[in-house]
Amino acid sequence: MSIVITPTREESIEAQRNAKIWGDEIEARGKRYEEKHGTWSEMQSRFEAQMLSFRTCDLCRSVCRSLFHLDNKHRGSRECEKQQAENNGVVFVPPGKRLIVCECGTRMFAENLYRHQQTDSHKKRLKPKNGLTCKICSIKFDGKRPLRDYKVHCKKSLRHKQKAAQLLCTLVV
Ligand SMILES: [Zn+2]
Ligand SMILES: [Zn+2]
Ligand SMILES: [Zn+2]
Repeated sequence: MSIVITPTREESIEAQRNAKIWGDEIEARGKRYEEKHGTWSEMQSRFEAQMLSFRTCDLCRSVCRSLFHLDNKHRGSRECEKQQAENNGVVFVPPGKRLIVCECGTRMFAENLYRHQQTDSHKKRLKPKNGLTCKICSIKFDGKRPLRDYKVHCKKSLRHKQKAAQLLCTLVV
């Protein structure tokens, strides 16, 4: 047994009116939301732009496929350096081919530094760079060019000459 209730005409009109009020309310809310947050597609494009900026390298402006890749593989890599050079309109020079000056004063490509530092010529040149002491006067020369300063000292210093004469020694440098 089933009971079918047929709405009266008044009831149907009221139901329709309620549906319209409900519909208008939904629409109004949607509008208010859009006014505040923008439309759905605006929100989506904002989100995408944000994601894109997260994946963009701050050094070379390349877009990486993921934030992980950017942080762990890309930033500061050879690729990144190449791109930076290109952005700045300069020729990319690989790290090994960059000119450097060794602490001993020798100019060379960075890739040759380790081998150079094992050589006698480096060791010899480095010695006076780290300071030189006049054994006669106990004066230390540790300026930029200790060897030159030392030689000047030996030639010019009266005190040095007197002492050297007393000790009867000549220093060969
Ligand atoms: Zn980069
Ligand atoms: Zn050196
Ligand atoms: Zn001296």
